Amino acid sequence: MSNTSIAIPVWAENVAAGLGGGPHVVVTGISPSGNIHAGNLREVLVAEAVARALRARGEEVRFLFHADTIDPLRKVSPGVPEEYTRYLGHSLSRVPDPGDDGHVSYAGHFLAPFERSLREMEMEIEVLRSHELYERGVYTGVTREALENTDQLRRILLEVSGREMPEGWSPFQPRAASGDLTGNRVVEHLPEQNSVLFVDREGREETADYSKGEGKLGWRVELAARWKALGVTFEPFGKDHTSRGGSTDTADRMAREVFGYPVPGRYEYEWIQLRGVGAMSSSRGVTLLPEDMLRIMPPDALRQMVLGRDPARALDIDLAEGFPQFMDDHRSAAGEPPVPFTHLVTVAQTVGEEPERAGEMLRRGGYEAAAEEPEKLARELSYARNWAGEWAPEQFRLGVLEELPEEAGELDEDQRRYLATVARRLPEEPEGEAVQDLLYSTARELGVKPKKAFAAIYTVLLGKKSGPKAGPFVAGLPGGFVRERFSGVMRDTEDAGEES
Ligand SMILES: [Zn+2]
Repeated sequence: MSNTSIAIPVWAENVAAGLGGGPHVVVTGISPSGNIHAGNLREVLVAEAVARALRARGEEVRFLFHADTIDPLRKVSPGVPEEYTRYLGHSLSRVPDPGDDGHVSYAGHFLAPFERSLREMEMEIEVLRSHELYERGVYTGVTREALENTDQLRRILLEVSGREMPEGWSPFQPRAASGDLTGNRVVEHLPEQNSVLFVDREGREETADYSKGEGKLGWRVELAARWKALGVTFEPFGKDHTSRGGSTDTADRMAREVFGYPVPGRYEYEWIQLRGVGAMSSSRGVTLLPEDMLRIMPPDALRQMVLGRDPARALDIDLAEGFPQFMDDHRSAAGEPPVPFTHLVTVAQTVGEEPERAGEMLRRGGYEAAAEEPEKLARELSYARNWAGEWAPEQFRLGVLEELPEEAGELDEDQRRYLATVARRLPEEPEGEAVQDLLYSTARELGVKPKKAFAAIYTVLLGKKSGPKAGPFVAGLPGGFVRERFSGVMRDTEDAGEES
């Protein structure tokens, strides 16, 4: 189903246990009307986990991503030129690319990065575009059924959602010659020709062939019709759809009473928020794209972060202070060699793009295993570097400074003496744990509190009061450089003494 090594979560096992025998069709649907963000990814990941659980018990599973490309443009997404208002009501698949990057359409523009991320995650999912399904006739049968049962559908909408549909309402939205799917009034169904006769906004009479994609079912009806047309057995929904009188309530009755199709298994997931920013919303321009997240973490970490422990609960995503801990937990759960993420951040910011120096720094720091897989190391370093550059709070921007920083002037006499003593004692070939011991024992011997002693180390190397675990960090740097820097603070005081 997917090339992921993370365990199938228990909640997904439970959902799968509640679904009947297969074959199964697991679907997730998203409208590419704007950026497809990490919140949307949560829905896809819920579906993926359930599909994996079904597969694991031997079921045949088709896993579909239904991109609602035929949906009308309802609102011009943030960042799209204002003149696109002229396409309001037109199918997203027929609105031009809002960028100058060569996509086939508005829908294609917003789908492309999301699809790229799904590929990078090696997700085995079939991407369907709804305008193609309509054009291929996949929805012809259900559209005819809907048109033949217009009154019943209208009654369900009224009873469930309290919405009284206007006179002349039709479950089908034909596309006018202008391209507009909205504001047209269906006059007659011509079942022999798979067509409807309708009057457009300008009062002109036109026909639309629903077996050729010349229009679409209204959203609430389409949801139920899609279950039947694609044979859907499971679909996750965000809570906005599952509220009382919401789209799943109407679709459930339409499926049973109009389309004679059993309601698919369901899972309600909660929203995710980006800590410090808020709920994600394409229409408000608050988006975190999966591809942004894949710049700072591998696919399985992304899966774990976005799903969280329980997708039925709201989740705050923390890409700042909490991120190094998340990465450490993720990697130790995956049984990988535990180079703390903050250490990688320091290495990445210190050596830049030089993998050999990075390997050397890690080896000297005692992380030999990590240094042995150069390709993997290069990836890890790029996550660390990107995180430091794009998300890290100031205290994590930990590049070793070329010169003794100004902050060193604030060190007191004890700290200076401590650094000078360490400088004299540092071995020629330092090793992480041995240096860690040396740093502690020297502090104890000189009566300097460890926290204060270590702050001195971070201050002269990073210009910060804290940093990664000191032993491996110091051991990873060239010995001569460290000795010079540590003893330099004594010279610094002596110079200052001479001046006064
Ligand atoms: Zn584009």
